[in-house]
Amino acid sequence: GIRDSVASRGLGDVYKRQTHNIPMSFFSFLTQELAIDLGTANTLIIHKDKVVVDEPSIIAIERNTGNVIAIGKDAMQMFGKENEGIKTIRPLKDGVIADFQAAEHMIRGMIKMMNQKQRWISPQLKMVICIPSGITEVEKRAVKDSAERSGAKEVYLIHEPMAAAVGIGIDVTQPQGNMIVDIGGGTTEIAIIALGGIVCDESIRVAGDEFNLDILEYMRREHNLLIGERTAEKIKIHIGSALQEFDSPPEDYAVFGRDLMTGIPKQIIVSYSEIARALDKSIMKVEEAVLRALEQSPPELSADILSNGIWLTGGGALLRGLDKRISAKTKLRVHIAEDPLRAVVRGTGTALKNIGRFKFLMTA
Ligand code: ADP
Ligand code: MG
Repeated sequence: GIRDSVASRGLGDVYKRQTHNIPMSFFSFLTQELAIDLGTANTLIIHKDKVVVDEPSIIAIERNTGNVIAIGKDAMQMFGKENEGIKTIRPLKDGVIADFQAAEHMIRGMIKMMNQKQRWISPQLKMVICIPSGITEVEKRAVKDSAERSGAKEVYLIHEPMAAAVGIGIDVTQPQGNMIVDIGGGTTEIAIIALGGIVCDESIRVAGDEFNLDILEYMRREHNLLIGERTAEKIKIHIGSALQEFDSPPEDYAVFGRDLMTGIPKQIIVSYSEIARALDKSIMKVEEAVLRALEQSPPELSADILSNGIWLTGGGALLRGLDKRISAKTKLRVHIAEDPLRAVVRGTGTALKNIGRFKFLMTA
């Protein structure tokens, strides 16, 4: 780059470099550097080492004008309660942008949200955004275009499992192999990482959203109770379980919905073991995907995974007993990443600070 060529020239050029440094640092002050985890369920932004945005990936728009009326948590309040005037959109599906315009509105809105909190506006945006490991070139391009239309002048991409591993604190450049299982909203992404690259990966469309649908379906089938997705999500968070038995099980939970027979609102008390039953099939699919990824692994890396264990991340890692269940299935140690909902954005933030050093960053 510029620095190398300057260094190999004479003294006159060194002087020139110094004078250049003044406007350079001035501009870097005007450059806002952002690390973005654009997730199916949640979007997080890190700026100056701090998480400044942590919002559900959803916007609400006015149907006839197309104007955005709410973003993030405010839009989530409206989800499932739309009327003829308002609709909500989740711009991402299965980890990739499904509605470009909505995605752009959402990214713009969240950056604005953050600047309102910080009270300053920046003309230049430099971004590192993470993308699913199995993303196509077209999808990659779409992420980059959305970022650019949202004001980014410089965009770098990083694969999510890589970002998660960095966020967990793994030295990804080492020859040591590590397995990451990221259970998000739309997809569960499993990857084995070594030497700064993804050696093998496996992705299934079974994750948090599917768990919610399982619960919704279970309530309908077993209790004749119609519930919405947000209620299903609350049930999952309060008493969701991957196992039938716990030393200290969560208490029963009151669920409100509509009685399918009478049409009247009704309350039902549900236990965690019922939810474990409701989620069983989907969790089996996650287990099978983990086993498939292990089968694909080169034997030298299998040995590493045997000693390092498996890392669970993403919101799904918080499902009660999931670590134990995967451990029982694979006979491997399973660790839950610290603050699993933020591991990916943390790693993306670290990548942002080391743009020159991290070779696995892509410019698309
Ligand atoms: P994404 O990266 O796809 O946006 P996240 O990693 O943010 O996804 O995880 C979101 C998912 O995690 C949602 O489906 C949410 O319901 C789920 N989740 C969050 N907290 C919990 C919890 N305590 N137990 C189970 N699932 C959870
Ligand atoms: Mg994610």
